[in-house]
Amino acid sequence: MERGQTVRVLILGGTTESRVLAATLDTVQGIETITSLAGRVAEPILPVGQTRIGGFGGPDALAVWLRDNSIDVVVDATHPFASTIGAHAEQATRASSVALLVLTRPPWTPGEGDRWTSVASLPDAASAIPPGSRVFLTTGRQGVHHFASVAHSWFLVRAIDAPTGPEPPHMTLHLSRGPFDVDHESIMLADNRIDLLITKNSGGDMTRAKLDAARVASIPVIVVDRPARTGSAPMVLDVAAAVDWLTNRLRAGL
Ligand code: NAP
Repeated sequence: MERGQTVRVLILGGTTESRVLAATLDTVQGIETITSLAGRVAEPILPVGQTRIGGFGGPDALAVWLRDNSIDVVVDATHPFASTIGAHAEQATRASSVALLVLTRPPWTPGEGDRWTSVASLPDAASAIPPGSRVFLTTGRQGVHHFASVAHSWFLVRAIDAPTGPEPPHMTLHLSRGPFDVDHESIMLADNRIDLLITKNSGGDMTRAKLDAARVASIPVIVVDRPARTGSAPMVLDVAAAVDWLTNRLRAGL
């Protein structure tokens, strides 16, 4: 692109970081953003700036969309477990010679007093539940079906919207959206006599309090590891680094 032109940035969103990035870039002259949401949540928190909602129809269709919308840079700021759209962004940007930056928060790591068991997937988490457990399941509504055959334990499922697929036979649904603090999470654990927490290793501050509450109560945690990331796009771990990367590109005329 020519020096002095507006840089058009597609933010693949659905995370707090994507909203903070859109709000920050809104104040940067010479950058225009469009945030894309998958449309999974019935009432999403909308970011500042332009928004589009829904899948693109695969990597080839995404490449066409990038061209049709004169996108200069894609920032993949999706959740660390959203691996399909991440791979599609790699393919589509490569095919259309558009720059790609990955913004992903660092994973959580266990500290002193944590009783974590790491597993590779939601089915592995389901297999690791000791019979008779009272499980606080916080892995999101889309994965609840992986626990549908676990009849030997009781589940408190917390999600933003209700799951639509099969559910475990002994389950209570708690609909709510973070952030949550440690006091809130300690009350959730105690009131429901939870003896096992299951979480994805999402990282970030919005939902980490449950891990602190579990440590304080000495409750074991099954942590589902992140899917491995493929691709060679540069990666940053926070919004400030993403803004720096983008403004440096802007200064260099891309
Ligand atoms: P995914 O498995 O990686 O993607 C599945 C399909 O959904 C993609 O192929 C794409 O459809 C569409 N898609 C995903 N993210 C999109 C976006 N930002 N804009 C437009 N289309 C998108 O994704 P997922 O795990 O279902 O997550 C969906 C969204 O929820 C993501 O934006 C993510 O940031 C957010 N989220 C996910 C989690 C999680 O645990 N997975 C947690 C919190 C938030 P097409 O192939 O048709 O383009």
